[in-house]
Amino acid sequence: MSSVTEPEKKVPVIDDVDVAVAGGGVAGTFAAIAAARNGASTLLIERFASIGGNIGPGMIVSGGMIDTPFHEKLSYESTIYPRLYGIAREFLLRYVDLGGGSIPPFRDKGAQVSREQNYARDSNIASYLAAQMLEESGAQLLVSTQVADPILEENCVRGLFVENKSGRQAVKAKVVIDATGEADVARRAGAPILYPKDCYQEIDEHAPTGMGLGYLVGGVNWEKYDAYRERAEISAEDLEWGREVFPEGYWYEEYRPIIPFVRKGVETGEYKLRESITLDGRSIDLGNIPGYGPMPFRCPSMPGFALGRIMLVRGMDAGNGLHISALEIAFRRRIFEITHFWKNYVPGFEDSFLLYIAPYLGSRGGPCIEGEYTLTMDDCRAGRRFDDVLYLYGENRALRHSCSEGECKWVDMPYRVMLPKKIDGLLAVGRSASGIPDTLLRHRMAAKVMGQAVGTAAALAAKQDISPKKIDVTELQGILLDAGYYLGDRWRLKELGLV
Ligand SMILES: Cc1cc2nc3c(=O)[nH]c(=O)nc-3n(C[C@H](O)[C@H](O)[C@H](O)COP(=O)(O)OP(=O)(O)OC[C@H]3O[C@@H](n4cnc5c(N)ncnc54)[C@H](O)[C@@H]3O)c2cc1C
Repeated sequence: MSSVTEPEKKVPVIDDVDVAVAGGGVAGTFAAIAAARNGASTLLIERFASIGGNIGPGMIVSGGMIDTPFHEKLSYESTIYPRLYGIAREFLLRYVDLGGGSIPPFRDKGAQVSREQNYARDSNIASYLAAQMLEESGAQLLVSTQVADPILEENCVRGLFVENKSGRQAVKAKVVIDATGEADVARRAGAPILYPKDCYQEIDEHAPTGMGLGYLVGGVNWEKYDAYRERAEISAEDLEWGREVFPEGYWYEEYRPIIPFVRKGVETGEYKLRESITLDGRSIDLGNIPGYGPMPFRCPSMPGFALGRIMLVRGMDAGNGLHISALEIAFRRRIFEITHFWKNYVPGFEDSFLLYIAPYLGSRGGPCIEGEYTLTMDDCRAGRRFDDVLYLYGENRALRHSCSEGECKWVDMPYRVMLPKKIDGLLAVGRSASGIPDTLLRHRMAAKVMGQAVGTAAALAAKQDISPKKIDVTELQGILLDAGYYLGDRWRLKELGLV
């Protein structure tokens, strides 16, 4: 590839803070709140106009804001963590008070939890509340601003170059937190990076990368659709055709009533079952569109609306601007075509219209730092212990596995997964932290809890004017314990020298 040399130039410094957080998504927002609450002057920088990332503008908010029980041995409140605590708990309770409809009340062990789907409505509540809690913490917020390169002094990050309507500017910081999801800051700093591998799919069906784009459809007459669905008689021939193109089980049952329409649409060329795009000379399969996700589903609190997502793409690099651009274009076109197919063919959707598409392609994984330690699925399954534990984490697939083996195991989350190798002055959080497969640390509650831990660590390092790699981890553990974090039982705390 040919290149040009960017001329050297002086860039105005618009802020000089203790902690700068790149990316106001789930992890970044909680990190900034925690850093500010721990006394650090903090600036959160977000490329969009609102914060919350995937649970905010990305519209992937509800389902289980806490989480559904992954195993009958687990109570609702003790899935990802042995219990809920900290800013994440505070956020959830306030979110419910504001009308966030998707959190079922805490329930007894083993109780089933219904998954209401209020993504579009609740994502605005999540964004609003995130901004409110950030403001209360005293952290500053700079939106509509892209984080570009880190300010580097040898191997130490000393701040960030940012780009917005004013052009290129600089923010100096004692500590920078990379919460961009795809480890943008770490990659540009030249830190060693772990890229997703195709074989991760064997460990997690959403890996590698697992991208998705949410959309909202208005004007749906669900009563009419239900009435049609109840009386729909599907011919044996159509059913056989459907069995070949739709996956078995839940999705097949969902699609059963519309098989004749899909078939007709495919035969007339109006509806494509599969689509691919060409990237770097390779053909990337966008997936079997009726297969996973594109069926718009209803949201109990939003009559007349349907929500949809198209997702699951492999072979994409979420850290590659050209890949993202190609997929954004293809997915948006696809969403338009899918919703028009429904409008033209499916009873109840005659007056429907595509109201909104989320402003960005969400990702469940992507590139992440190679940390001083990389957490793996094996660690999670084994419930491994680490002396630099900041909290206990129950990766859902690993939990399901260990519970089935007889003992539910939570793994110690070591501080080192947040520390990039070779680069100083930088912490990575959420999907940017170090995990294999790339989707291991994606869980939204995990991103919140890690956010608070990382923000606390950054404030500690900034206060002492030392590298995040040099802080006293026992001191950090003590602060997190005081904030309600669970690092293990009394015996374990004694072992760690915390009691
Ligand atoms: C389709 C889909 C379905 C999902 N379903 C679930 C589920 O059911 N349960 C669950 O727990 N999790 C789910 N997730 C995962 C979860 O939503 C994410 O993993 C979580 O949001 C990760 O948080 P994060 O803070 O690391 O990243 P994000 O929430 O993506 O935040 C990254 C933030 O950084 C900003 N940013 C990025 N680059 C820059 C830059 N250069 N400059 C400035 N800002 C930048 C982005 O705009 C964004 O606000 C799903 C994800 C997807 C995509």
